[in-house]
Amino acid sequence: MKERLVCPICKTAGSLLDVVDLNKSCEEQRGKYLPLAGVAVYYSLCNHCGFCWAPELHQWPLSKFEEDIYNADYGAVDPDYLQTRPTSNAEVLRSIFPVFPPTLRHLDYGGGNGLLSRQLSAAGWHSKSYDPFVDKQTDIASLGQFELITAFEVFEHVPDVWALMSDLSSLLAQDGLVLFSTLLSDGNIHPNQRLSWWYASPRNGHISLFSRNALTLLAQSKQFNFGSFNSGFHALYTTVPPWASHLIRVG
Ligand SMILES: [Zn+2]
Repeated sequence: MKERLVCPICKTAGSLLDVVDLNKSCEEQRGKYLPLAGVAVYYSLCNHCGFCWAPELHQWPLSKFEEDIYNADYGAVDPDYLQTRPTSNAEVLRSIFPVFPPTLRHLDYGGGNGLLSRQLSAAGWHSKSYDPFVDKQTDIASLGQFELITAFEVFEHVPDVWALMSDLSSLLAQDGLVLFSTLLSDGNIHPNQRLSWWYASPRNGHISLFSRNALTLLAQSKQFNFGSFNSGFHALYTTVPPWASHLIRVG
């Protein structure tokens, strides 16, 4: 167990923070509780960078996630994932970029069934979707590079945060921009306190919970700048591309 408590991001020693039932879900904040699964899921907290993660689930193969989390019952704990969220995120992107230059390519990383990408394509964008759970046969190197990559509600699901950063780094064109959402844990997770934050929900596959510090370290490892629009929506970039200059003001 001890080596599993080494922080995957900054490699300093973490410690166990709390244990919750596998069926703890984000729907609990709406008052819906599943019966307990009887499966204990431990979360660890890095006292240096603030990353909080579920060490055992970080070792699961994809097949185990498909069996126990992204299964036929997943829709009950994330009712918005099939339709509502992709549709509203597509609208957000179209409002951010009312005129998305036709020369630019967009990738929705972790895009599930690809609905967001199809909606943007219908609006004239060059958009593609890639999801490791859906596009299992796709060699990521065959996708090419993209000026804009989005990753909505992806980071918190990822067991290997370094593989995620490698993917984003290799898929992003020079002077490209990554826009992603995940809720920052700052102020929501505290050492020596119970893990009561609604977002820390293993039944939703939320196994990696990022502090601002942890995301900054990950970004720096790939020479990215990291910035946030709010506590849930963020950007990675090297230099701000001209087509996104209305979005990000440096300095
Ligand atoms: Zn750390």
